[in-house]
Amino acid sequence: MHEMGIAQNILDIAVAAARKEGASKITRINLVAGELRGIEPMQLTFCFAVVARDTIAGNAYLDIETVPVSGYCNECQTNFSIDDYAYVCPQCGSVKIEVTGGTELRLKDIEIE
Ligand SMILES: [Zn+2]
Repeated sequence: MHEMGIAQNILDIAVAAARKEGASKITRINLVAGELRGIEPMQLTFCFAVVARDTIAGNAYLDIETVPVSGYCNECQTNFSIDDYAYVCPQCGSVKIEVTGGTELRLKDIEIE
């Protein structure tokens, strides 16, 4: 279950950021997760609750914003979103495309007290 490792990473980054601000509590964590990361929000929320227990993020709400997969066609220079892992340009049918979004995983911001 790779969510456990991800949850630990998120927690470490959030706690470090909160400490820097002199906060005693993290109330909310806003996360951006690309669809290609294959993260199950329910799983991640559960894992986060486990690793964050007994930390200053113990009661933090984890908000996961999913970013869809997007692509760019090298043939007709079109940007488009990729649905259902169909790596084909919807404009010209070319397969010479690049994945331009959907792989990110980052902490957008945190709310602290
Ligand atoms: Zn195209």
